[in-house]
Amino acid sequence: MVKHTVTLIPGDGIGPEITTAMRRVVEATGVDIEWELADAGEHVMDECGTPLPEHVLDSIRKNKVAIKGPITTPIGTGFRSVNVAIRKALELYACVRPSVSIPGTGARYDDVDLVIVRENTEDLYAGVEFEQGTADVAELIAFAEERGAGTIRPDSGISLKPISVTGTERLVRFAFEYAIANGRERVTAVHKANILKYSDGLFLHTARRVAEEYADSGIEFDDYIVDATCMQLVLNPAPWDVLALPNLYGDIVSDLAAGLVGGLGIAPGANIGDEFAVFEPVHGSAPKYTGKDVVNPTAEILSSVLMLRHLDEPEAADRVFDAVRATLGSGERVTYDIKRTLTGSTEGSVGTAAYADAVIDNLG
Ligand code: NAP
Repeated sequence: MVKHTVTLIPGDGIGPEITTAMRRVVEATGVDIEWELADAGEHVMDECGTPLPEHVLDSIRKNKVAIKGPITTPIGTGFRSVNVAIRKALELYACVRPSVSIPGTGARYDDVDLVIVRENTEDLYAGVEFEQGTADVAELIAFAEERGAGTIRPDSGISLKPISVTGTERLVRFAFEYAIANGRERVTAVHKANILKYSDGLFLHTARRVAEEYADSGIEFDDYIVDATCMQLVLNPAPWDVLALPNLYGDIVSDLAAGLVGGLGIAPGANIGDEFAVFEPVHGSAPKYTGKDVVNPTAEILSSVLMLRHLDEPEAADRVFDAVRATLGSGERVTYDIKRTLTGSTEGSVGTAAYADAVIDNLG
């Protein structure tokens, strides 16, 4: 049996509870994993002076694979997103978020099987921002106006949206390679190129050019405007397959896609680069539920399924996925969010740890 060493980042809020549940389920499969604990997030600020100590990145660089809980990002002020910083520091350029219908979740649809492939390193998440009222903003506004690029109100804050040929090429290639490796049929590039000519326009032209390289791959290619994509996804999600999106649209559309299959509690994700991979749920740290042992650890557990496949442990991955399906399918030992969707009330739901017990029982 191969021994794996994986960096484990419990994170903030509900992170420690759901990563503990995930770890117990993975260990119950018998896969040999040594977890290297490396903590990051709001709660390490006081001790370490930074929410992302360098030893956390070093641990991932050494082990190549990490799984994490969510990390809090203060809104409007305070430190920048640790999640974004990890993705940028390790060039985890593709964020893969499958949305698959699982019976028993009470989701609106039972025929969804799509994958969001979100660009992870640029767009409005590049972190190139200028604060309202500063000399930098005044200079930027003067620069834009001098070049006839339109007028900007002087009391504006400005965030830049860089989209590059390099970033788009590797993202769209990743989407095609993923489609080929996973028996998918179609890649759709999602954009707003009708309005954002030089950023989304570049994304679209580059995606079309990369698609030509895959003309003989058997994978279809098309493109869609992001707002129309959202409406079509809500109306009829079944035909959608692999969606390749710039960072911000990918973030928003993946929450929408999670909603199609039962909510954030069951939506897993992976951040992949050429060298490293970091697995994490789509949802955040849900601070109001911290320490209450109520939230659904399925998204974290399904993120470990993606991790097990990445570690070339397909049998263990299938066992965990089937055990989650069986647990949700029975509708008995499920968490409040699923119970609420199924019955309109949280009565009769179980907690995070008891749900993990049920999944472990269903591993057989
Ligand atoms: P959130 O933490 O995802 O929570 C929003 C709501 O989604 C919760 O109130 C809950 O809804 C539901 N939910 C989320 N996770 C759930 C789970 N495991 N089981 C059941 N329901 C779940 O979003 P947020 O409140 O906007 O963000 C909180 C913090 O997380 C912010 O600081 C944000 O920046 C950060 N964040 C981190 C990541 C990451 O680490 N990758 C991702 C997104 C957000 P109900 O109360 O209706 O049940």
